[in-house]
Amino acid sequence: MLSILKKELADFSELSSVRTNINTIYRELESENYDKVIQICDLSIEKCEKVKEKAITSKNEEIANSMFVVNAYCKVMKCYSNYWNKILEGKYKDSWVDLQDTINNLINVTKFMENQTEFGISEFNSHLNELEKLYPYSIFASSEMVIETKECSICGKSVLDMDCIHIPGNLYWGQMAAIICKDIVFQAVALVEHPMDKRCVIEISDDYRTDKEKFKLLHYFVENNTNPLKLFTVTETHKYYYNEKYHKYKRNDPCPCISGKKFKKCCGENKYERRPHFHIELKDDIRLRPLLITSES
Ligand SMILES: [Zn+2]
Ligand SMILES: [Zn+2]
Repeated sequence: MLSILKKELADFSELSSVRTNINTIYRELESENYDKVIQICDLSIEKCEKVKEKAITSKNEEIANSMFVVNAYCKVMKCYSNYWNKILEGKYKDSWVDLQDTINNLINVTKFMENQTEFGISEFNSHLNELEKLYPYSIFASSEMVIETKECSICGKSVLDMDCIHIPGNLYWGQMAAIICKDIVFQAVALVEHPMDKRCVIEISDDYRTDKEKFKLLHYFVENNTNPLKLFTVTETHKYYYNEKYHKYKRNDPCPCISGKKFKKCCGENKYERRPHFHIELKDDIRLRPLLITSES
């Protein structure tokens, strides 16, 4: 549906200015002018809404739906610019939420792409997943609840009502059908590794480390790269480190853990400690090119 931007449609001449805006968004992002990107995104979102209204009046559902996707793309770039603004201010903890907003909005774009590799969108998606790996988060809170009432966001009827023809996640005249949950009874909070929403992270209490220490990997990354479109990969491996506390014991000494065994037969086996190790590879010459559009006709 993003391919609509490649076309010149006589009745929707505003589309060409949306296309110009989107190309500008890409260039400003590449030059790290985040506030400028946010400003152009807001203007484009407004313009898309106007095209959508016009499409509805002239009964063109395809264009109305395409505007939803273009809007979602502008939201991706806006969230991603907010993300980098936080990163540069050193607000690493807050930046996690902006990263999640970016990923969630990108789902609304990729969902409606005819070709996943088109416009460099899938590459951009894996780029965001690499950024996630730089955070020290692995456990999240997920709420368990009982939902008594579920309504369709388009027609307002109960989702169980046979008269509702809308499928959640599908587009109808530029709007995405969603389920509105009402009368929610919370039951419990579960700790999970793969939640639907990763915004609620579990942290260690009484953690007095500074953000630079807590987000060591992210901080290292930011010190070495501040371009939002520069490609990189994170590989998780492990390394063995010599455990200093066993330094003074010899192989045949009684083990310090008072097990009664010799050191070599007991804790001596743990003289080397296995710890996670991350390898960040910055691909110097490769820049992502999400959505740079040229007109076809
Ligand atoms: Zn409905
Ligand atoms: Zn021992």
